[in-house]
Amino acid sequence: MNPNDNKDGAPAAPSNFIRNQIDEDNRSGKWSGRVETRFPPEPNGYLHYGHAKSICLNFGLAESYGGACHLRFDDTNPEKEEQEYVDSIIEAVQWLGFDWREHLYFASDYFDIMYACAESLIKAGKAYVDSLSAEEMRALRGTLTEPGKDSPFRTRSIDENLDLFRRMRAGEFAEGTHVLRARIDMASPNINLRDPAIYRIRRATHHRTGDNWCIYPMYTFAHPIEDAIENITHSICTLEFEDQRPFYDWLLDALASAGHFPRPLPQQIEFARLNLTYVVLSKRKLIQLVDEGHVDGWDDPRLPTLVGARRRGFTAEGFRLFAERIGVTKSDSWIDMSTLEECMREHLNEAAERRVAVLDPLKLVITNYAEGASEQCHAPNHPLKPELGKRDMPFGRELWIEREDFMEEPVKGFHRLYPGNTVRLRYGYVVKCTGCEKDADGNVTAVLAEYMADSKSGTPGADNYKVKGNLHWVSAAHGYAAEIRLYDRLFAHPHPGQRREGDPEGYERSFLEDINPDSKRVIRAWLEPALRAAKPEERFQFERHGYFVADRRDSVDGAPVFNRTVTLKDSWAKGGK
Ligand code: ATP
Ligand code: MG
Repeated sequence: MNPNDNKDGAPAAPSNFIRNQIDEDNRSGKWSGRVETRFPPEPNGYLHYGHAKSICLNFGLAESYGGACHLRFDDTNPEKEEQEYVDSIIEAVQWLGFDWREHLYFASDYFDIMYACAESLIKAGKAYVDSLSAEEMRALRGTLTEPGKDSPFRTRSIDENLDLFRRMRAGEFAEGTHVLRARIDMASPNINLRDPAIYRIRRATHHRTGDNWCIYPMYTFAHPIEDAIENITHSICTLEFEDQRPFYDWLLDALASAGHFPRPLPQQIEFARLNLTYVVLSKRKLIQLVDEGHVDGWDDPRLPTLVGARRRGFTAEGFRLFAERIGVTKSDSWIDMSTLEECMREHLNEAAERRVAVLDPLKLVITNYAEGASEQCHAPNHPLKPELGKRDMPFGRELWIEREDFMEEPVKGFHRLYPGNTVRLRYGYVVKCTGCEKDADGNVTAVLAEYMADSKSGTPGADNYKVKGNLHWVSAAHGYAAEIRLYDRLFAHPHPGQRREGDPEGYERSFLEDINPDSKRVIRAWLEPALRAAKPEERFQFERHGYFVADRRDSVDGAPVFNRTVTLKDSWAKGGK
């Protein structure tokens, strides 16, 4: 099998430097064909669109090479982590359609092994307990251009180090009095190799291990060990860890030499993180948006979280398509939001059934249609999929149409309803506009028309009518009013908070200033009766208006409310709205 082919026969994924590395390893037999990746979130927040890129990459590689991808909670920092985040991350990865099978892990389950690894390093003379203050340590670290200097504690004996480290663990010392450091090279041009800290004292309760520990491993020490314990072959991370790779390799080599892990050792590979316009992906900013009430919670459909995306009506397939389309690279770049939206449209165009909704309703009265009478018209559920059949759409004397579909005095090129003009009511009859009714202020309150009894769609001769307008409508007697949320981009500017021309000298623009005031509009619309049966998360194309999803939180049986996912066309193209 070509390793670029998905198991289910989906089109080959385009090659990239990570696939090339895996192909090379498979050729050389380095891992005997095994491919094991991991997605290692820290459970300190909700996943966002950027994580989706990493999830699709890691799980996607495992899928296409017949390997496995682990879901590993990197929960080595006791202070910021919570079960709520663990649950939401599990749900999000499942929602994206990926399966870790038996490979669900928690880094905190490895605390004993990590501790043993640290003792091994001490015994090999590769780690020491430093008792300088944080400030003193910083002063000796050196700079990018100057080497660091050795700590006076660097030469402690192995026995003294072991004794101190064990007493750190036993809780004899206050926070900040001692740290365990790797003994590498204070003069290294790579600052990450200047005796990095690997264990520190923290009197904090961990969400899984409780108060079992009062020392916790540093992320840079814990992560390579987690990979080695799980037999990860390719440890894929974002570019900012490139300078950490020498330490990753140093540490695993030292531990393999001490007999902790077999060789070959996992290999770290870096790729460029997702930067997306019109959103913010930093955890700090997302928390601020939620805490200060700029959005309605973590699953607000405007927020770039995956719970938000789900309520927005974005699809897992859309995210996978997006991940494939943007690919993986070695250099940072910006992806335009329209690329993501277009991927959603592409999937929804294929997956979503069509329905009719009138978002800005105006009454149309068919004056020559009998009062109280009604009949069924038939609308195809999907223009590209006749096998999905048709649904009934009741027609009657009074209909709702879009206000913008009538002009008493038409402008040039307007082919919809105006006195004297003939249009087709989609899937129904051809009607001729005869006038309108107005209120005292001159606002149009109803449009009047007459229908042609022999023009019903699908009947012989119906096509003989040549009309230019083709309008959607909902029967007033049969349709129902429902709440619709018209969501749009959360920010009105591609780079929220970035300095702009015209900003006063020295002015610090906040990303909050760039919030789009029209990012959520709530309206009451008239929907065709078939939509009453929509189930939470069922998605539709509302003809002419875009893609909508029945809200999974606020819909009740028989009365769904809908969120707009995306408009049919990109309304932000060419310099914004
Ligand atoms: P933190 O600043 O808290 O570390 P984080 O966004 O890196 O935030 P993690 O939970 O550490 O959050 O991320 C899990 C994985 O997702 C990491 O492997 C990280 O590289 C990847 N990831 C995070 N943000 C992006 C992004 N914008 N694009 C691609 N991958 C990302
Ligand atoms: Mg991180």
